[in-house]
Amino acid sequence: MDYTKFYIDGQWVDPVEPKPLDVINPATEEPCATISDASVADAEKAIQAARKAFRSFSRTSKSERLQLLRKLLEIFEARSEDFAQSISQEMGSPISFSRTVQVAACGAGRLKETIAALEEFEEVSASRTGATRIVRQPIGVCAMITPWNYPINQIAQKAFPALAVGCTMVLKPSVLAPLDAVILAECIHEAGYPPGVFNLIQGEGAEVGQYMASHDEVDFVSLTGSVRAGSAVSKAASDSVKRVTLELGGKSPNVIFADADLEKAATWGVSRVMANSGQTCTAPTRMLVEKSVYDRVVELAGNAGDSTQTGDPSVEGSHIGPVVSKAQYERVQSFIEKGIEEGARLVTGGLGRPEGTNRGYYVRPTIFADVTNDMTIAREEIFGPVLSIIPFENEEDAIDIANDTPYGLAAHVFAGDIEKAQRVALSIDSGMVGVNGVVQGFDAPFGGYKQSGNGREGSLWGLEEYTEIKTIAGL
Ligand code: NAD
Repeated sequence: MDYTKFYIDGQWVDPVEPKPLDVINPATEEPCATISDASVADAEKAIQAARKAFRSFSRTSKSERLQLLRKLLEIFEARSEDFAQSISQEMGSPISFSRTVQVAACGAGRLKETIAALEEFEEVSASRTGATRIVRQPIGVCAMITPWNYPINQIAQKAFPALAVGCTMVLKPSVLAPLDAVILAECIHEAGYPPGVFNLIQGEGAEVGQYMASHDEVDFVSLTGSVRAGSAVSKAASDSVKRVTLELGGKSPNVIFADADLEKAATWGVSRVMANSGQTCTAPTRMLVEKSVYDRVVELAGNAGDSTQTGDPSVEGSHIGPVVSKAQYERVQSFIEKGIEEGARLVTGGLGRPEGTNRGYYVRPTIFADVTNDMTIAREEIFGPVLSIIPFENEEDAIDIANDTPYGLAAHVFAGDIEKAQRVALSIDSGMVGVNGVVQGFDAPFGGYKQSGNGREGSLWGLEEYTEIKTIAGL
């Protein structure tokens, strides 16, 4: 496959100015493909194509768009293995995890949910007295900027609802994981979407991402990524007063009370942190444990950490792979170093690569105990397989520590007393709370409070994000 072209106006085109960029496989540290880094001229062509296509695509009927999405699902599922292999190579996700989680659940699963939501979506309703018609119309040209950690998932959360309601779009994925987006563009082309509805460019966010966010012909910008990028995009978008949706980072608490099923709470918590090598925005990276059961939970968590294996992403199994890049490896190492320096107790893992590994950006699954919430490892999103365990005195103390963070994406509570779990769930400032290991389905809204972002993705809420509300009175 030739990854150096962009998909603009229904065709694969060369970049205006060739700027090749290697994609590095983090397991081998070798290039696995070459893409092109777009310039502003490429972004301009893509935005103009999306603008031109908007008039007719925005007037398609819901049944036409449902038909297109169903066709897209068929094609997407037929290409599942291509998606899985690409994701494993570009960002190191183990192939079994890529197949089941990254592609089947977060790709095809989200598309199925988008179709189900569109079937139910009311495009026209009425005001309370029935005097005014209320119409939901596609918002316009959308710029979509996505990260590398669940690459097809984040594209799915944006492109599928936009296609569902009749928007046109320009997607710019992360340069670290750009290959799966090329396969998606091929699927969209084969499904028969009109030229210009979906456009794909690759490149660094600081240049083309900023250009897209500030462009007058872009009506909506949706970014998933770091707080730094989200804030930069918001500033760039502000002059043209466009809608901005941000899905940003997290430092999610997992509150474990003494009356919980401790073994389940500890092992579940560790596995959720280690999955995808810790590169999950919702990972419960702060495990808050009631003092009376603290030692027992630390021991259980340590055992779960010890049994977490790292290994080659191309091999099937439940091991975790490397982190995405050299920069990410070094960043995670510096946090582990900081944890040791600031006096946290290393229960398992630590600095350097796992034993017997001398190539690839593999990090040792690491657990710190006796962490205080003011330590760097409790405050910063590490985005690696690193867990911090923090003791708490009682319910109020747990809520205070859980909320003492600039983030508010996800939270978990483990308790035997369900009323207590309910009280705590309602008191934590976070967009999503799971109780006793239950995680919400794709039919629920996804998004965070505070610096974890604004807006919601997924299902009916995701469709609404891509619409404007028009009232028509007198007809
Ligand atoms: P990142 O912010 O570096 O990059 C994300 C995207 O933004 C990339 O496409 C990048 O090119 C672009 N970008 C970067 N700077 C930009 C700028 N100034 N203007 C416009 N675009 C810019 O993040 P990342 O390292 O790719 O991903 C990791 C981050 O994403 C973590 O913080 C993680 O928590 C977050 N994340 C959040 C969610 C969520 O749904 N809340 C999901 C996954 C990842």
